[in-house]
Amino acid sequence: MKVAIISDLHSNREALEAVFAHIRASDVDTIYCLGDVVGYGPEPEFCVDLVRGHAKLCLMGNHDEALLNDASDFNPHARMAIEYTRARMQPKWYSASERKARWEWLKNLPLVHQEGRFTFVHGSPRDPVREYVLSTDGILNPEKLAAVFDSFTGIAVGGHTHHPGVHDEQMNFHDLEKRETRTFRFEKDRKYFVNVGSTGQPRDGDPRACYAVLEDDQVTWHRIAYDYRVTQKKILDTGVLSEVLARRLAIGK
Ligand code: ZN
Repeated sequence: MKVAIISDLHSNREALEAVFAHIRASDVDTIYCLGDVVGYGPEPEFCVDLVRGHAKLCLMGNHDEALLNDASDFNPHARMAIEYTRARMQPKWYSASERKARWEWLKNLPLVHQEGRFTFVHGSPRDPVREYVLSTDGILNPEKLAAVFDSFTGIAVGGHTHHPGVHDEQMNFHDLEKRETRTFRFEKDRKYFVNVGSTGQPRDGDPRACYAVLEDDQVTWHRIAYDYRVTQKKILDTGVLSEVLARRLAIGK
């Protein structure tokens, strides 16, 4: 196993291109995506097409699901972004086949992928699309984290919180602490919950795009600088997407 894992792209073309360029220059040739290809950002079609064309696997994220179904429980900024995305992407009977194919692809994204001892999800193994396993859960919500750990065997791999790191069975969260790269080795027969972080909207205080390379016995995260000002301008130029969504890209929150 040696797979590059991206998640939470959120229609951010510049971040995704920077991450893809970094992967292409490495010795990893398989890419998995853990969902939330769309939402928040200005260029959903571009991101869907790149993932469709190059990722061997893509799971359903909560924003992908909200686009297809309902975003009424989202906060106003996120909901507006889903409406913006739906207006661009939802096909009508007369739409071009390309638009219909993207929509069909989104509708058919799986929720979970099991491979050896690895369980891949967007959120958590017991609620693959929506549950957040937060970096603070080991301290603030240990019963919940213990229940999450009881719901899988081996190593779970998710995204969703936009905060990269790994939970161990002792309830510790191993953070990147703003490093450009970090490798975490798995001890034999131990359980872990790995969070691969977010490519398109990091929230751990580091604005650089994030992805992870997963191997049998370790995970390595990479932070990739990209020109978020280009993305910010595109967000503002839509006239629809909230400036809050532009501002947060600069601070990684
Ligand atoms: Zn997300």
